[in-house]
Amino acid sequence: MSIAENLISITQKINATLKDCGRPRESVRLVAVSKHQPLEKLKIAISCGQKDFAENYLQEALSKIEILGKELNWHFIGAIQANKTREIAENFTWVHTISRIKIAKRLSEARPEILPPLNICVQVNIDREPSKAGIMPEELEDFFAELINYKQLKPRGLMVIPKARHDYQEQLQVFLQVKMLFQQLQSNYSNLDTLSMGMSDDFVAAIVAGSTMVRVGTAIFGLR
Ligand SMILES: *Cc1c(COP(=O)(O)O)cnc(C)c1O
Repeated sequence: MSIAENLISITQKINATLKDCGRPRESVRLVAVSKHQPLEKLKIAISCGQKDFAENYLQEALSKIEILGKELNWHFIGAIQANKTREIAENFTWVHTISRIKIAKRLSEARPEILPPLNICVQVNIDREPSKAGIMPEELEDFFAELINYKQLKPRGLMVIPKARHDYQEQLQVFLQVKMLFQQLQSNYSNLDTLSMGMSDDFVAAIVAGSTMVRVGTAIFGLR
């Protein structure tokens, strides 16, 4: 299928899922994960009306942003090195992979005053995988308490990359755990409105559990 057809079919799946769970239309944002995809494919997605793109690798992202423009919403979803925070703060509207206070502080300090605060999600390590970045669930409250000190950051919610699971019920259970953590945080931080969860293979379960932002790569652009 073409990129245009993929975008239509994913959007239909998102809308059908929202309808099934009685959630409002457009309460999920589709973010196209374009890492390692050539510019031509991004241009096709843009011509179909896609405005949100996510990238994992800074140098690759910067060259795409320079050509395609900052009017699009650029999301950073990769590992963040301390010496890269300035370029991230200057070029992106969202960062989903916040898991260290030091990085958050540097992003806030580097975010230009003329730009609105950088939207951020805190990555939670829901499966407690030593190999993966992210805050442990019991550390989230303290982490958010520190984040509010940084004026040029706008904490929006949580992001998660669970272990790959192929069974729908298992996917759903994990996403529901994240949703519960999110609701606990919302009782103290009422501005939080974003749950960044769901990828090509599990976005339906993520939406049923309450995702508001799905990050889909392969299902839109094909294999990388
Ligand atoms: C690559 C990536 C995705 C997209 O994965 P697909 O399986 O291709 O949809 C989503 N989120 C993050 C953080 C990624 O690195």
